[in-house]
Amino acid sequence: MSANTVPGHLSSKEFIELEEKYGAHNYHPLDIVIDRAEGCWVYDVEGKKYLDCLSSYSALNQGHCHPRILDTLKQQAEKVTLTSRAFRNNQLPLLYKKLHEISGLTRSVPMNSGAEAVETAVKLARKWGYKVKGIPENQAEIIVFENNFHGRTITIVSFSTEHQYRDGFGPFTAGFKVVPYNDVEAVKNAITPNTCAVLMEPIQAEAGILIPKDGYIKQVADLCKQNNVLFMADEIQTGLGRTGKMFAFQHEGIQPDVIIVGKALSGGFYPVSAVMANDEVMGVFHPGDHGSTYGGNPLGCAVACTALDVLHEENLVERSATLGKKFLNELRNINSTRIVEVRGRGLLIGIELNTKARPFCEALKEEGVLCKETHDYVIRFAPPLVISEADLNWAYERIKKVIESFS
Ligand SMILES: *Cc1c(COP(=O)(O)O)cnc(C)c1O
Repeated sequence: MSANTVPGHLSSKEFIELEEKYGAHNYHPLDIVIDRAEGCWVYDVEGKKYLDCLSSYSALNQGHCHPRILDTLKQQAEKVTLTSRAFRNNQLPLLYKKLHEISGLTRSVPMNSGAEAVETAVKLARKWGYKVKGIPENQAEIIVFENNFHGRTITIVSFSTEHQYRDGFGPFTAGFKVVPYNDVEAVKNAITPNTCAVLMEPIQAEAGILIPKDGYIKQVADLCKQNNVLFMADEIQTGLGRTGKMFAFQHEGIQPDVIIVGKALSGGFYPVSAVMANDEVMGVFHPGDHGSTYGGNPLGCAVACTALDVLHEENLVERSATLGKKFLNELRNINSTRIVEVRGRGLLIGIELNTKARPFCEALKEEGVLCKETHDYVIRFAPPLVISEADLNWAYERIKKVIESFS
């Protein structure tokens, strides 16, 4: 390390050395050390500028450091930040109302991370299964899908099909049935009288932007209805405008019984997640059944309210639809023997390669475009929805150059 130890004055290389020395090695980041960011652009500690085409896995739909959300954060931070749910605060009710307005569902429960919200949905579905549907004690089953990603807690990795996510973490939570994605018959065959819910990502983003065939989600939702099973949509990554609709399930015109959101709910400022459901389902939660110290805190709620306002007022859902369509068509024109498929919906786009995607992401970083491989062979592009057409073109030129250079 250099003699200069003022934290802000270390070089990227020195920050990376510190991180590698003192941090747990549970991530393998690209070697860019971000110092500040604005909108779609991030700057490393040497001042080099990059276009963010990952948006922290869609947590930054509103762009980095959105000035309106920042104002809210500052103002609320000066008033009150945490009350705990032992007392009420004047921000949580406003968030409840907004979540109702975007989802059509009557009630919600606030949590912090996405994984916590998924855990909450699992608890909710089980309790509904026992108390409303009448499933015998400890027999409730939840149907999930191959290649799912719902987070990293023990219960959630219990139903992951990714070897590494489970390896070394047993014993696991029982009560989940895994079926192939994009296969209606498989769901039909898996449903039993003890099934309380189906938990689905409307697009499997982590698995490589896997988009099911048209009609699939609707057919699964119909099956759920016919069998008195809750249809639970994990919209943590696909929700809040990312795919060109407020929620990805809206591409099929359905209404889930339970909707899970996180990530962009707070526009990157603060962890806020939520689970939404109607009275019959949410009614199974009574005081003491579930909770979180920070869940529903006024700072997070105020930030989330403004993050949702920004989505509406800046027409980010429509922007995602129009810009996404255009970008997808452009990317499909790239001519390369390396490309297997370019697929996407809105500004959630994957380029599947016939070779490892990591070197492409490293090369794109050198060109000033930040994106990340997902599951080895897919490059995911998910820029902030506030991105301008000019910036998207700027990215396109560089993506084209890099992919062609590998051909
Ligand atoms: C990111 C993500 C989660 C987990 O969210 P965390 O905030 O990282 O716990 C769950 N489901 C989906 C679909 C996600 O993309």
